[in-house]
Amino acid sequence: MILDAHTHIAPPELRQDRRSFFAGEPDFEVLYRDPKARLIGATDLVEYLDANRIQAACSFGFPWNDDGKTRLCDDYVLDAASRYPGRIVPFACVNPLRGRQAVREAERCLSAGARGLGEIATYGAGLGPEVRSGLAPLAELAAEAGVPVLLHTNEAVGHSYPGKAPMSLEEIYRLVRRHPRTRWILAHWGGGLFVYHLLRREADDVLANVWYDTAAGPFLYKPDVFRRFLNIAGADRLVFGSDYPLLGLPRYLREMDAAGVRGPEREAVLGGNLARLLGLGEGA
Ligand SMILES: [Zn+2]
Repeated sequence: MILDAHTHIAPPELRQDRRSFFAGEPDFEVLYRDPKARLIGATDLVEYLDANRIQAACSFGFPWNDDGKTRLCDDYVLDAASRYPGRIVPFACVNPLRGRQAVREAERCLSAGARGLGEIATYGAGLGPEVRSGLAPLAELAAEAGVPVLLHTNEAVGHSYPGKAPMSLEEIYRLVRRHPRTRWILAHWGGGLFVYHLLRREADDVLANVWYDTAAGPFLYKPDVFRRFLNIAGADRLVFGSDYPLLGLPRYLREMDAAGVRGPEREAVLGGNLARLLGLGEGA
């Protein structure tokens, strides 16, 4: 069973006129100013799933500054999940800098059937103290509800690209240490945090509830990252996420081929780990 942990969908209003959503939303504008940055709807997503024999995908909107836009996108995702049951796993996407509004929106979505929070991202603001304190009640809410938080993380060094947030490994580590009951999926290989599963002390405990997704990995890392990750952090901590429509499954399969990821390890990464994390059975 193949599951995709990381896909983005957008309501028709947004797909038809993205420019009208730029005002007051610098993060969105940075990511989607280029018309080549695709915005797709639920039907397009399900076509991708069908074409690649992917059973289901976690999907989400955008962490807007404007609460009305956030609700519009969350409602679209929830509605998509009910139109395509078992294919689209809805996550609630909120902006942690919106404080109580974000918590209220997350609660609303969870009671309407959201299976996780994500992709929580503060692209421009990074993961400093203000963002971490906005994330705190969301992390606790997710722990209470028994759902994971898919958090945008990225590497602190290397080439720059739209959406690369200023954040340090220490900030990511502090955040997860503060919320030990929360199950985290750190997007984009956790910005490299997985290396620290090698530490002799503390990190194994702090990172016990942390998983990592592969989203956008082919743009960021050499294929060897798969082998290195599996050797360091183990095959049960990595979940396939494509960042579709940015990239699709075939590109990841080629990278896994190049890295020699086969058999049970490959099955775990492509779906087994996420199925356990979300409590999805076979055929769910
Ligand atoms: Zn991301």
